[in-house]
Amino acid sequence: MTWQDDAGRDLVKSFGARMQMFVRGEGSYLWDADGKRYLDFLAGIAVDSLGHAHPVFVDAIATQAATLAHVSNYFATPPQLALAATLKRLAGTGDDGRVYFGNSGAEANEAAFKLARLHGGTERARILALNDAFHGRTMGTLALTGKPYMQEPFLPMTPGVEFIDSTVEALEAAIDDRVAALFVEPVKGEAGVLPLPEGYLAAAREITERHGALLIIDEIQTGAGRTGEWFAFQHEGITPDAITVAKGIGGGFPIGALITFGRASELFYPGTHGSTFGGNALGTAVAGAVLGEIERADLVRNAAERGAQLRAAIEGIDSELIDGCRGTGLLIGVGLRHPVAKALVAAAQEHGLVINAPNDETIRLVPALTIGDVEIDEFIELFTASLRTVEDALVLESPTEVPA
Ligand SMILES: *Cc1c(COP(=O)(O)O)cnc(C)c1O
Repeated sequence: MTWQDDAGRDLVKSFGARMQMFVRGEGSYLWDADGKRYLDFLAGIAVDSLGHAHPVFVDAIATQAATLAHVSNYFATPPQLALAATLKRLAGTGDDGRVYFGNSGAEANEAAFKLARLHGGTERARILALNDAFHGRTMGTLALTGKPYMQEPFLPMTPGVEFIDSTVEALEAAIDDRVAALFVEPVKGEAGVLPLPEGYLAAAREITERHGALLIIDEIQTGAGRTGEWFAFQHEGITPDAITVAKGIGGGFPIGALITFGRASELFYPGTHGSTFGGNALGTAVAGAVLGEIERADLVRNAAERGAQLRAAIEGIDSELIDGCRGTGLLIGVGLRHPVAKALVAAAQEHGLVINAPNDETIRLVPALTIGDVEIDEFIELFTASLRTVEDALVLESPTEVPA
């Protein structure tokens, strides 16, 4: 029996076949069971902010596990309070911010959905969300996710959510005083790393404010420094009513949070929401250590600078398949001129490079925030070789389709 047989028999079929089995990681590298090394530019989908097996991450888990892991939300623990204070500071909520802890992105967005309902009640039952944006796979967050093909097998959805295009005009046309909240994904990662139009967040802030609706920003993929600011909304200098975070906050440990600002911080009251595991001492200690290391090593700036360096290097690759780069910091979408993204992902793995294809014409690059010249140079070498492999296959398949 191979591991593929085991996976095919034992694991839920909602995921496609696993592409590799990894047994070990260090920094931006992964190893499979045969000892083959891979450069990891997916980082567990923007999760492993510090790379694999970072000593700060390892030490935080070991130390906190040996001290106190979990006591439930009947009680406070020092790492939970410390992380709440850190998230408030980094998000810039000021004193009147509050933090709700869950264990995933979906749970953070579920909390945000309930926040919107508490704000709107039955009078303001409309919730606006953006076409193509991704907010999660649970029934509540799926209802917020503007991808009809994902919702279709699970209809009917939780009612009240309406989808609009990501333009200021569409928001102006849709909003009225019965809207409780607008949900926004600032860079649509799953849709192919599509940034919002310049100025959208600032306009959305003004419009939602005018109509008494909450502006809720899903920073699950964009947060923790990934875009070159702690949170993507900070590029536009606005103050949202709430943001949700997960992925990169825990550096590989599952944790998510809803961070509220101002009046939105007063909406939950005792009994309205909760989680057994959420905010436990172990998870919050790890996330606190990860954020502390991002801050200490200035990895937010590294994300901005290495992102620009990486985009420039990719745009310098001589390949007719590449159709430019999108995104900010170390959240990069490489556009492709042919629907070969899946083939490119497979070729890259042959060459020892892990990348991801959110759709047929986009490669998503979300490496650890710790990358430097060595990783970028190696990436360009492996990515170029992978592009050649796919170009050669394309020429063989349909010689007329690919210009020389
Ligand atoms: C990954 C992601 C989610 C869902 O997070 P999970 O931890 O998988 O539940 C929600 N929103 C965005 C923008 C994401 O990237």
